[in-house]
Amino acid sequence: MNWLDMPVDATAKAVAAGEVRATELARLALGEIRRWEHGPEGLNAFISYSLEHAEAAVAFSSGMAATTAAILSHTTGAGKRHIVAVRPLYGGTDHLLDSGLLGAEVTFCDEDQVGDSIRPDTGLIVLETPANPTLDLVDIAAVVAQAQGVPVMVDNTFATPLLQNPLDLGAAMSLHSATKYIGGHGDVIAGVIACSEQTAQQLRRVRAITGALLHPLGAYLLHRGLATLPVRLQAQQSNARALIAKLRDNPAVAEVFYPELDDVRGIVGRQMRGRGAMIAVRLAGGYAAAEALTGSVRLFTHAVSLGGVDSLIQHPAALTHRPVAAEARPGADIVRLSIGLENVDDLLADLEQALARAQSVVATV
Ligand code: PLP
Repeated sequence: MNWLDMPVDATAKAVAAGEVRATELARLALGEIRRWEHGPEGLNAFISYSLEHAEAAVAFSSGMAATTAAILSHTTGAGKRHIVAVRPLYGGTDHLLDSGLLGAEVTFCDEDQVGDSIRPDTGLIVLETPANPTLDLVDIAAVVAQAQGVPVMVDNTFATPLLQNPLDLGAAMSLHSATKYIGGHGDVIAGVIACSEQTAQQLRRVRAITGALLHPLGAYLLHRGLATLPVRLQAQQSNARALIAKLRDNPAVAEVFYPELDDVRGIVGRQMRGRGAMIAVRLAGGYAAAEALTGSVRLFTHAVSLGGVDSLIQHPAALTHRPVAAEARPGADIVRLSIGLENVDDLLADLEQALARAQSVVATV
């Protein structure tokens, strides 16, 4: 009999009789563990089939662990040495690639240079869209068309599976830092990659070897988060859109970055089903204004991470993108906002008072 099909008390008797090891009992007796690891309704199955239209999905202990597994399984683990990466990327991803720590050599390039950057030993193409922190959009199908069969991994964290499905456009992997929108409450660190079953097997191998498994409580929290992802995202996106209209008119703001604003290629609509709830702004008063803004908010929390119910603000050049090479680092005048579920008038009032302070600090310098 399969231990998973055995009623718990019978399993307990088997343990008492020395037929099953106690560690196995602990795993089998917890319904939540069964649910995410094995059940047809499990976390991986839910994310793969229902949300990302994939054959499989593999959960990791963090988004960075997922990225690490994707790199290792497609480079050193596959006898290849080279990666092509489209910038900008999340600072941690950029740093991991640039550090050479995983033994891969990386060519950073723009979207239209991917084809020319591929070598015989290229094992992976990495891109992120919308990209952290300036919401740059990449045309996934256009990159796949240049890929010459090299697998394309898309970091889909900002869009979520609800707004964008990279596998439908020919990408091999859709990666999520589930720490963000999928978890949704800022209380779990996790990563997920949706992909083919063949790729999933390679990823699971690296996950096992490197110990990058998702903790059962983390898996439970992702289940909880997924239940409200659609309503959260809808409300967060609606808040973001209302704030954008006001931010664009604010004299302290020189530029607003948001997917609809510079989308000459029509990616929103064709590739994305919505614009999301991440915003970045360039301050007219430069770094001094950015520092004053992040230091003056009261309802927004000055913190990294994103995608949760609480609105966050952070300065990428000093925090999330600090380790990025100077030529690719976001400007010191840029601040990133993750819009949460608070009352939109309260969010606006908080931003307006903090922007006014940012203006006055610059004026008195
Ligand atoms: N990808 C993106 C776009 C991110 O913003 C982050 C973290 O901020 C990561 C990956 C890394 O995820 P984690 O923090 O879960 O390791």
